[in-house]
Amino acid sequence: MPGIGPARASALAAAGYRRVVDLLFHLPFRYEDRRAISSIAGVLAGPGTGFVGVVGRLERLSSVFVRRRGLSLVRGVVRDDSGELPVVWFNRPFLPKQIVPDALYLLWGGLQPVRPSKSDGGEAKDAGPALQLLNPSCERAETAIHGARIAPIYPTIAEFSTVVLRRLLDAALDRLDLAAIPEHLPEALRERHGLPPIGAALRFLHRPPDEADLKDLAARRTPAQLRLVYGELLDFQLEIARFRALTNRTVRLHRYRIDEKVRAAARAVLPFRLTGAQKRVLGEIAEDLKGPHPMLRLLQGDVGSGKTIVAALALAIAAENGYQGAFMAPTELLAEQHFASLERLLGKRYRVGLVTASAPDPGARRAALARGEIQIAVGTHALIQEGIRFAHLGLAVVDEQHRFGVAQRRLLQAKGERPDLLVMTATPIPRSLTLALYGDLDLSVLDELPPGRSPIETEVVSAARRRGVYARLGADLAAGARGYVVFPLIEESEEVNAGSVAELGALIRGQFPDVPSAALHGRLPAAEREAILRSFAQGSVRLLVATTVIEVGIDVPEASWMVIESAERFGLAQLHQLRGRVGRGSTPSRCVAIHGRLSEEGRRRLDVFAATADGFGIAEADLAIRGPGELLGTRQSGVPLFRIADLLADEEWLVQARDDARELLERWDDPELAALRTRIEVRVRRRAGALDAG
Ligand code: ADP
Ligand code: MG
Repeated sequence: MPGIGPARASALAAAGYRRVVDLLFHLPFRYEDRRAISSIAGVLAGPGTGFVGVVGRLERLSSVFVRRRGLSLVRGVVRDDSGELPVVWFNRPFLPKQIVPDALYLLWGGLQPVRPSKSDGGEAKDAGPALQLLNPSCERAETAIHGARIAPIYPTIAEFSTVVLRRLLDAALDRLDLAAIPEHLPEALRERHGLPPIGAALRFLHRPPDEADLKDLAARRTPAQLRLVYGELLDFQLEIARFRALTNRTVRLHRYRIDEKVRAAARAVLPFRLTGAQKRVLGEIAEDLKGPHPMLRLLQGDVGSGKTIVAALALAIAAENGYQGAFMAPTELLAEQHFASLERLLGKRYRVGLVTASAPDPGARRAALARGEIQIAVGTHALIQEGIRFAHLGLAVVDEQHRFGVAQRRLLQAKGERPDLLVMTATPIPRSLTLALYGDLDLSVLDELPPGRSPIETEVVSAARRRGVYARLGADLAAGARGYVVFPLIEESEEVNAGSVAELGALIRGQFPDVPSAALHGRLPAAEREAILRSFAQGSVRLLVATTVIEVGIDVPEASWMVIESAERFGLAQLHQLRGRVGRGSTPSRCVAIHGRLSEEGRRRLDVFAATADGFGIAEADLAIRGPGELLGTRQSGVPLFRIADLLADEEWLVQARDDARELLERWDDPELAALRTRIEVRVRRRAGALDAG
């Protein structure tokens, strides 16, 4: 391609652009309206600010004090039939030599006043020109690509500016037969959704015609843009579906009977009526267990939505059918809590055992597990250690899935032969992102809280009102309440330095000398940490001053106060998790977020936090504030990021693409789909590779 020598070629290749077509998929991220060309008289009579385009001859060009402090200046005038306008360029020393006299040039740039305006008392007459054109783009009018059009603005590639890229892409468009760009969307689908072929879409995006709708362009709503959005989302949906087909092709080995006898056994363990959502999810799980493939299901439910009982009933079904179950939690304390509640629920009918590093008599437990005497094993990572064997593991449950990696999930699965898998998480993720992150799992959602919860009252206050907050906390503590004060981990370099956890803790605890309290942070040895949490659960400690170590899973129904210090430093999801530590019993609860100086984003975050009690609402808002990149980036690798599609804004298209993907997969061997098939299968193999590596 003209304009690309060896140096540019290798810079482009290093950035991943090897072929002309790669460059064509480098899309503008916005457009500027440079369609209007004014006469110079019109410009001079206008408001005198803003960007303008003029066409004329360039005259009286001269370089003025070249290279003073590294700055060069070119001055001149542009003239058309109606008048002339001074022009100034910085750092274009070679420009005068390149200009062809008498040729017409198109200049596009910003107007700048050079004299005080009339209203400032300046004398208009004889005062010389009041306006000049500053640093305009300058190109031959008959071949203009930077002006007299809707101009695309590109993200830079390496050191290539938008101006250079515009030139390169213009040359690429001229040289390429756009009809020859492989079209992988079946024509019928394209037509059904009113989308242009890929070649036409790309041409439109790089060279929007003058009559294009700028509002639609800005909103990514032109058919050309939708063509690319839809194409990406369809690829994505096909990839996920094919990936699932690949991983689920295994046939289940564990056959379950779910008859009246099993149902009666399940009813017998129930201490309360299930919520509608719990019944629905349990039904989904039962369908999986009866189905032809091992279950792979993600259960999402806000904090306190009652995931444990759902898992317990599934484990009971497994035990009734003669299979062992495993329940893995991220910390010893959580494992102990779950062990206690599962023992309470299921202990009368089945043998429940605790498997953690510190549980007594590990040898005997291991043997009981290997012989199948322990029917339901509750534990930590200890469950996936090498020495642990099950006699016949049928169902594996992973609680707080986001605390574990895919590798750990797989290790637990490997303890059985194709066991059914249920992973649970309280970190709500919008549906669209769930697809991106956990595409290989089926999704169940508990979207209803059990009855009898008293709502949590949330307040957001500035640090100036801290004293009042602590006074109220003190009064409630004196009356027997239990509560948390949480603050963010503070970097050593910041104003409050290391040791601050203990110091701040002491300071806060000092305000309540009569209340048994403790400080809790990550630097304490695990055993000590868990002892403190245990005391809090039992009530011998009633005030916990803590870092975010308490974020996950702690279930102390008596706790009714949560104070979050420096709330502006927490993300929305984290704030919501912290708030979920209270309101777990019948005592009315309160969460007070105390904040310092707020950025605009911080303010928005706290407003959402105060106004939204539901975790999915929080997650949607979080996604809107931060964008999906950050959310996706913090999780597993191998997640596709899109060039143009936006999981949040394009959810409708995402759903459309999912439905279309299903339809396509029913005729996946159709020769018409050959190109699409190849493209998708490559991506599926890459995804499988990424998972194995991670
Ligand atoms: P999470 O989804 O956060 O893990 P849990 O399973 O710990 O929630 O349940 C939170 C609390 O709600 C527990 O004390 C549990 O016993 C109670 N619970 C769960 N389901 C119901 C229900 N249907 N009716 C009444 N209480 C319930
Ligand atoms: Mg839980």
